[in-house]
Amino acid sequence: MSLNPKTDFASKVAIIGRPNVGKSTLFNIVTETRKAVVKDQAGVTRDIIIEPVDIWGKQFDLIDTGGITEAGDLFSKLIKEQVTEFLHSVDLIVAVMDGRVGLVPEDRDIIRVAKQAGKPFLLVINKVDKAQEEEIAKADFYEFGVDIVSASFEQRRGVGDIIEWITKNIPENPGTVKEGMNITIVGKPNVGKSSICNLLLGVNRMLVSDVAGTTIDSVDSPFVYNGRKYTLVDTAGLRKSAKREEDLEIISAFKSHEALRRSDIVLLMVDGTIGPTDQDARIMQSILEDHKGVIVVANKSDLGNKEVPEYRKTFREQVERVFHFFKDVHVVFTSAKTGNGIEDLFETIEKVTDQINFRVPTSELNDFFFETIRKAPAPVYGTNNVKFYYVTQTYQKPPAFIAFANHPDGVTNSYRRFLVKNIKERWDLHGLPIRIFCMKSRK
Ligand code: GDP
Ligand code: GDP
Repeated sequence: MSLNPKTDFASKVAIIGRPNVGKSTLFNIVTETRKAVVKDQAGVTRDIIIEPVDIWGKQFDLIDTGGITEAGDLFSKLIKEQVTEFLHSVDLIVAVMDGRVGLVPEDRDIIRVAKQAGKPFLLVINKVDKAQEEEIAKADFYEFGVDIVSASFEQRRGVGDIIEWITKNIPENPGTVKEGMNITIVGKPNVGKSSICNLLLGVNRMLVSDVAGTTIDSVDSPFVYNGRKYTLVDTAGLRKSAKREEDLEIISAFKSHEALRRSDIVLLMVDGTIGPTDQDARIMQSILEDHKGVIVVANKSDLGNKEVPEYRKTFREQVERVFHFFKDVHVVFTSAKTGNGIEDLFETIEKVTDQINFRVPTSELNDFFFETIRKAPAPVYGTNNVKFYYVTQTYQKPPAFIAFANHPDGVTNSYRRFLVKNIKERWDLHGLPIRIFCMKSRK
């Protein structure tokens, strides 16, 4: 894989589809190479190939996803998850279908997953070797309401339309930063969530949402702090009036999954004089499963030293023990009563925002990655050495990375943790859940 500095942030265009529909043929035509092996029958080993393309004044990386849609006849759950993760790392999706076979169930799965990725999406109906059959071949696929092109790669027909679509839809700034973080407050009852919420939004704001919220389950409240915009997600459950005895435990500890999913940063509030408990550890686990930025907010610091001498030190020790699976988590001490620590909290929120939006140029990432694995190579997989070819950052937030290797199954969890630790240290991404996916590639 040659790394052209110009294409460091090049947009990525993925070709997906069932085996044998013509993906490799398209890849070879557009890249003017013979990198992808064109198969005579389905079932030949397939891997991911990436090639920079410079065409019609646009540059992008074209990716032939051979291996990721291959699972016999089944679009299995595992493959589906892998494809979904992978599609997060690309900018445009070109799905190729076989016009001679027509629409098959697996195509529906592929189209659904591609649409869910929320990227510009083109459906190509290939193998329409007779131009007069174009409309009939496309008819099956109109129901999906996406852009469609019919083609015969063998006759080089339709390829110009595909390139035109790509160059039109390619984003100028791939993976652009979204402004205004969504914040959610979670934690056990009585730790001070409502109080902090009131402090952040101001009393009037809460009165407004009190009225609006009586019949609405979820209310989001925008606010501004230090000139930056934020939205407090699902504040309804935090309002005093919304607290009913029977719901208290559940509602105030866990947000609805939907609320968590919509947030960028989660404030896990804990009573600073008591410290985190096993229940907090479970809440933390669910935040990490959702890959969110997280800050542990140790509230009631005004009571801290009265109740527990050197309580900050004690609290940090408790954090190391209870959150042993995520020791480097950000911790801030606050008092919703006196307002102490609110500035610290927002400094940390701003830091986590920057961390979440972090992007590293591909060449810098690869230089560092290969230096790291040279010092400590991956363990041997069976009788094979695990060899990495290329690493790229996805557009997911917090930052996530895909490493292409000859034997992705050989990348053990402990080796993955080692890589994550090094990446965190190199780019100051401490306290964030960083992910590395491994995918198979032949080169
Ligand atoms: P992939 O598995 O999706 O990468 O598909 P390939 O690019 O390897 O193509 C599979 C087979 O379909 C090969 O034998 C190609 O020659 C053939 N093929 C590709 N495009 C066309 C086309 O437009 N018309 C016909 N009739 N065959 C094609
Ligand atoms: P929630 O159940 O997590 O929403 O907690 P509340 O905001 O309702 O607070 C529970 C109790 O703790 C109330 O009596 C608050 O007045 C009190 N409280 C909240 N924050 C603080 C704080 O920083 N210091 C002190 N001393 N009390 C607090």
